[in-house]
Amino acid sequence: MSKFFALIPAAGYGARMKTNLPKQYLSLRGKPMIYYAVRTLYLYPDITNVLVILSPEDSEWFKYDWSEFSSKLIVLNCGGATRSKSISNGLISILKSSLIDDDDWVLVHDAARPCLSEKLLKKMLNELSNDKVGGLLAVPISDTLKRSSNDRVLRTESRDGLWQAQTPQMFRFKLLMDALCKPDSITMTDDASAVEALGLSPKLVLGDMHNIKVTYPKDLSLAELILREQQGIDYDK
Ligand code: C5P
Repeated sequence: MSKFFALIPAAGYGARMKTNLPKQYLSLRGKPMIYYAVRTLYLYPDITNVLVILSPEDSEWFKYDWSEFSSKLIVLNCGGATRSKSISNGLISILKSSLIDDDDWVLVHDAARPCLSEKLLKKMLNELSNDKVGGLLAVPISDTLKRSSNDRVLRTESRDGLWQAQTPQMFRFKLLMDALCKPDSITMTDDASAVEALGLSPKLVLGDMHNIKVTYPKDLSLAELILREQQGIDYDK
């Protein structure tokens, strides 16, 4: 039986947030933002381990108490210059530990998506666990798309068949290694792109708009509202 591992790349600085503190540590309902991704993945029974990839220069992680997650949590200070490099470094580290087999699944989830729900996670595992390639959460684009040039509209682009990629993105360990360890993958902004570059077609699993990525300062208050609304979760306790 294949096992499931979660991998959270958290070695970025979040330049677009314009704060000194790396984005994953910004406070959200009294916890560092990454807490929510760790918690959701940790609580999911089918997930064996949660790997967090930090920058080698990270000085924040150990300021918090992560002991509630210790039975599954593995923290690696092997982040690289890009998201994809951080993930491939993390995969190489677990390969060395012989904890993982080629056919085991890896769910890569950004630290900057704190509002992933258990329901979505379950849906994803149901739809992908028997898939040959793997896939990702995504939502069809609903806005009209404009191509720009110097802040003026050059033309309107068709949104037919266009989806916004989210995370988790879920692939088997060996495939993800093969995809991300290729030199061309280093600048790719998601894992599916690297798998696509191998000529494969990851499956799109319909996600929801609540699984937002916190990129700009205003996104933090939206994330807070969504977390408040999510049923059955009370982090204040
Ligand atoms: O910057 P962005 O929001 O696209 O980053 C997505 C995820 O990738 C974040 O969780 C971030 O910490 C991580 N990342 C990383 N190593 C980098 C850059 C980003 O682990 N060098």
